[in-house]
Amino acid sequence: MRIIILSAGSLLAFGVSAQTVTLNCGELFDSDNGQLAGPHQVVIEGNRIVSATSGVSESADAIDLSDSTCLPGLMDMHTHLSHQQGPTAYSDRIRLNTADFAYRSVGYAEKTLMAGFTTVRELGDIGNLSVALRNAINAGLITGPRIHTAAKSIATTGGHADPSNGMKHDLTGDPGPREGVANGVAEARKAVRQRYKDGADLIKITATGGVLSVAKNGLNPQFFEDEAEAIVQTATDYGMHVAAHAHGTEGMNRAIRAGVRSIEHGTMMTDETRRLMKKHDTYLVPTLMAGDWVAEKAKIDGFFPDVVRPKAASIGPLMGENFRKAHEAGVNIAFGTDSGVSAHGENAAEFELMVRYGMTPAEAIISATRTAAELLDVEDDLGRIESGRLADIVAVRGNPLEDIKRMENVHFVMKEGVVYRHD
Ligand SMILES: [Zn+2]
Repeated sequence: MRIIILSAGSLLAFGVSAQTVTLNCGELFDSDNGQLAGPHQVVIEGNRIVSATSGVSESADAIDLSDSTCLPGLMDMHTHLSHQQGPTAYSDRIRLNTADFAYRSVGYAEKTLMAGFTTVRELGDIGNLSVALRNAINAGLITGPRIHTAAKSIATTGGHADPSNGMKHDLTGDPGPREGVANGVAEARKAVRQRYKDGADLIKITATGGVLSVAKNGLNPQFFEDEAEAIVQTATDYGMHVAAHAHGTEGMNRAIRAGVRSIEHGTMMTDETRRLMKKHDTYLVPTLMAGDWVAEKAKIDGFFPDVVRPKAASIGPLMGENFRKAHEAGVNIAFGTDSGVSAHGENAAEFELMVRYGMTPAEAIISATRTAAELLDVEDDLGRIESGRLADIVAVRGNPLEDIKRMENVHFVMKEGVVYRHD
């Protein structure tokens, strides 16, 4: 990958005056109204946009994107940069050390950024490695997106993110709050405080069973309401929000009533669920790519353990129509892929699925820019190309509103004023 450092935050730290970069964009996506705003000249100083004005004036050292549409840096609200599914994923858990996963994650993070995703929300890792990954990226040691991480997901015993599920007895131990397994209110509080201590930015819980865990039920509720409330209340005390993995209705509704910020997947939503989400301002992060991926792999003999295969075959295909109903009902939807299930760097394939199941291309792009920024409470810095905001800007050739698959061919990536890709 070519990395062109035109202006780096690290230069500012040493007192060097901020470099100015000018982009001449053929079109600019306005994430407030979902329309293309015509040719624009965007001027960046240091890591921020200082102006974005209509029209293009000649400038010898401007970066020419006149055949392209400039968009705010894309934001994926559900990734797992610490790993990637494949035929050996289950045995990897007992053969590999955290360092093995960590080295792999360096490449996954770079692929994600090069695909145009300048910000991700990391929802469940291995060995807290996403905290170290975030810190190394922020320090400029490696290349990747801005990461908001939950570190290790919190589950109940035998729940979807219990790290010892499916293992032989002498390997299981008795994971507790430190390892992200909590039962009862006191342990739930401790598990949140441990994530804070580990350097997490937010909390992820597995409110119901899940598809890929080595456990029978993919839908059942796995936290009592008092446990979910204890998690949300404790997280709130530490300035963190809570993302809840949920497929089944009852566990999902409990999590929404407890006050989680987002429901991940959300497969078995009912009218009552959609009503609760609108009442509580809960976001749906649909992860349609993950539904597609597990449904496809379930057709292959031996790909999944026997206990996983029927869950993948039955839950995966439901996610598209569920998304359609949520969108029609006016539920807030923020873009998220569950990458790490599907391959890292292919995140933008989610756009086409969102359009297939009822969004306009503009709505899908808004979900990955403005809405995602709102979910993360960073809408003053990200999600729009406007004076004063951080300079996260990507570009695709032509008009993505006419062909959403153009989002899969990002050819220009700038994060905080630094150009990481231009081809
Ligand atoms: Zn996930």
